[in-house]
Amino acid sequence: MQSQKQTTDIPKWAALLAEAVNKPGLIKKAYSAFWNYSVGNQVLALVQCQLRGIQPGPINTFPKWQTLGRVVKRGERALTLCMPITRKRRDEGSDDEQAFTTFVHRARWFVVSQTIGIELEPVTIPEWDAKQALAALSIERIAFDKTDGNVQGFARKRQVAINPVAQLPHKTLFHEMAHVLLHTSEGDFTDTEQTPRNLREVEAESVALLCCEALNLEGADYCRGYIQNWLYQGIGYDADAIPEKSAQKIFRAADQILRAGRPTRERSAEYAN
Ligand SMILES: [Zn+2]
Repeated sequence: MQSQKQTTDIPKWAALLAEAVNKPGLIKKAYSAFWNYSVGNQVLALVQCQLRGIQPGPINTFPKWQTLGRVVKRGERALTLCMPITRKRRDEGSDDEQAFTTFVHRARWFVVSQTIGIELEPVTIPEWDAKQALAALSIERIAFDKTDGNVQGFARKRQVAINPVAQLPHKTLFHEMAHVLLHTSEGDFTDTEQTPRNLREVEAESVALLCCEALNLEGADYCRGYIQNWLYQGIGYDADAIPEKSAQKIFRAADQILRAGRPTRERSAEYAN
């Protein structure tokens, strides 16, 4: 999720992640209003709503609102989201064109409260199903075969296992899925209650935080404590402790997990309208 023109008024992903970590309830609110957008965009949209005092709710582009029978009120300013753009590039001395995707920020979206017109259907947030998410991401859940009672779960290649008596089974599942999506090409991960606090652990735990809070499952408080501890390590609070690149990976993995667990028709992002 990189922007070619990251202007100063668009917060960095690391700053948005710090918001989500430090403000309990923010992700839940963002997910319930903007679930069909990427997790990074959900936070981006909510932060802009809060700064401008706009009530969060369904969000669409100007023309899409018209097709839904609503018009944007005079004087309303569009919200900025990050969107993928596919471009074609021709290599020097070659006739082959190659498609590549970049991410750009565009101010094109309006929340329902910035529009007037016919009433909308009430919003229903799609159910999330763990089995479906694992299948869609080609992750296999295997039997837990460790005898060390401290081990909550582990991830190896594209397999995960959760201790049947894990304290926070959903949290651990999201954490291990994040390791598969982000890290297991670098080796196996076994997570005890005392797993060292390195950056990969913070990445996996941040993904778990975003997923637990979006889906209103137990575990977000634990993750929050763990990550805040990381942010406060050593000399005090360091908001930049999580690098921008890690923040991008975290938002992307959480997005993959949340999307994969929805019914197939509810998986795509709403950029085209
Ligand atoms: Zn871990």
